[in-house]
Amino acid sequence: MALVDRLGRPLGSLRISVTDRCNLRCQYCMPEEEYVWLPREDILHFEEIARLAHVFASLGVTRLRITGGEPLLRRDLPALIALLARIEKITDLALTTNGVLLADRAEALRAAGLHRVTVSLDTLARERFRRLTRTDELDRVLAGIQSAADHFPIVKLDTVVMRGVNDDELTGLVEYGRTIGAEVRFIEYMDVGGATHWSMDRVFPRAAMLDALGRRYGAIEPLPNDGPAPADRFSLPDGTTFGIISSTTQPFCRTCDRSRLTADGLWFLCLYAREGMDLRALVRSGAADEALRDAIVTAWSAREDRGAELRVDERDRTPFVPISRLRKDPHLEMHTRGG
Ligand code: SAM
Repeated sequence: MALVDRLGRPLGSLRISVTDRCNLRCQYCMPEEEYVWLPREDILHFEEIARLAHVFASLGVTRLRITGGEPLLRRDLPALIALLARIEKITDLALTTNGVLLADRAEALRAAGLHRVTVSLDTLARERFRRLTRTDELDRVLAGIQSAADHFPIVKLDTVVMRGVNDDELTGLVEYGRTIGAEVRFIEYMDVGGATHWSMDRVFPRAAMLDALGRRYGAIEPLPNDGPAPADRFSLPDGTTFGIISSTTQPFCRTCDRSRLTADGLWFLCLYAREGMDLRALVRSGAADEALRDAIVTAWSAREDRGAELRVDERDRTPFVPISRLRKDPHLEMHTRGG
């Protein structure tokens, strides 16, 4: 019988963070000067990750997404991809990257068995990119996206839209996506993890996105929802499609089948969960697959998280976790949970 949680949601997708380190410092994710990093000896080895992925697949997971931090900072990532690509029940093996290191690696990742790539791209303007990420890597990111488009059948672009920062670039990003054959997904700025400067008036909501695109292109048609994917998809009059992930104003907890494994093996059942289950401790204490399965089944069966929905009900919303708390527990960071 399929494993479902208390709200009837299956265990379908696992996001695997392979490192908490990042080579960008995006304002909405890592705005501070200093960070507490996970101890290196705690980071799961590829064989440990692959073993856990096998166990999750045996319980119903069919989709894996490799994330970080910046996953391409993890040495020899194609070797991990090759291990995961061998898991028969996995029908979707994806990677989320900032693209900086992608140009040279796309071919090897594809050859290793990666199915598709999502690249985060918030702006096409050089000076804005520099301010947003505190690096000057836009050219390398664009080269990475081109290389992904050359080697992968499916490439998506993820854009976090912030009011007054990049909300004037929606059409520019749609046009750019069209030229390289990539669908853009606009993400509402979320209050979670390292978004310590978040405030509701910096959120550019879904309705405003649709309004801005509708004014430029004309009538926008919603496309039928194809399962538990976080994005609602839309079509422009010329057939160009795009997505909106409205995690802040219209969350989709009721269909959320995702969970997250941090690079050091903590398993989180919700992006907003304050605590995770220590699967590394189980693996390293010599637990058999059956014991790992039991632990996962028990936790998932009791899951009733709907963190983003509960946030919507909150009045006077401020960042979910203050910086003092993040310093004490880096697992609460978005760059540790993998977004
Ligand atoms: N480094 C990789 C990348 O840039 O795609 C993977 C990790 S990153 C944490 C994963 C995703 O989380 C990115 O698309 C990023 O834009 C998103 N993200 C981080 N902080 C966010 C926030 N406060 N609101 C919305 N999305 C956020």
